[in-house]
Amino acid sequence: MTGRTPSRHGWVEVVSGVMFSGKSEELIRRVRRALIAGRRVQLFKSHLDDRYGGEFRISSHDGRQIDAEPVSNSVQIAEKVDPATQVVAIDEAQFLDDGVCEVADALADAGMRIIVAGTDMDFRGEPFGPMGLLLARAERIDKLTAICVVCGEPATKNQRLIDGEPAPAEGPTIQVGGAESYEARCRGCHVVPTRDRAQRELLPGRGKRWAGD
Ligand code: ADP
Ligand code: ZN
Repeated sequence: MTGRTPSRHGWVEVVSGVMFSGKSEELIRRVRRALIAGRRVQLFKSHLDDRYGGEFRISSHDGRQIDAEPVSNSVQIAEKVDPATQVVAIDEAQFLDDGVCEVADALADAGMRIIVAGTDMDFRGEPFGPMGLLLARAERIDKLTAICVVCGEPATKNQRLIDGEPAPAEGPTIQVGGAESYEARCRGCHVVPTRDRAQRELLPGRGKRWAGD
């Protein structure tokens, strides 16, 4: 016997997956249901995400609505969370620092439900920002797929294209507002030129080849 009194605690749930897999849709669905349940919800998003023209508002059918508060780091989330909040939702978490893991854990330990959405892999297929650590720590994880724009299979990878060509692995992980674009692709159709050449050295004659290589 430790003598500890069991206390109410929260948990961390992560919605991960490739771009276009519906992570934001799923986050919005969960937040809407929390609002229907009458929970006090706060919503955060990385300031790097400007898909909604800087605004991201979730409203429920009964007219309640909340706006996402833009944050540039995890400390700002800790500072902005009201002690009375019951549900904390964070979108585009891949752009945040590793400290978001400690913040999420601390808030969950304090009794809150934490819903984190983010792209789990960068364009090279490597863990993106704090997402790998968050996935390891979460009580619940969901990994969503999109549709591969090349072959129609379930897509799990982010393909970065520069002027329509697969981008080399050496580029920066975060690139906002450049000449590049992104597509959802399956493993077989995902091309990262330098990595694929290295794989062919690892597995002679069996590595991935792509048009124009
Ligand atoms: P995420 O937050 O994961 O980037 P969103 O929730 O913003 O995804 O958008 C998901 C929506 O994107 C889908 O419901 C669909 O309408 C659209 N979409 C566009 N391209 C694709 C694709 N290749 N595969 C699946 N959905 C796609
Ligand atoms: Zn494919």
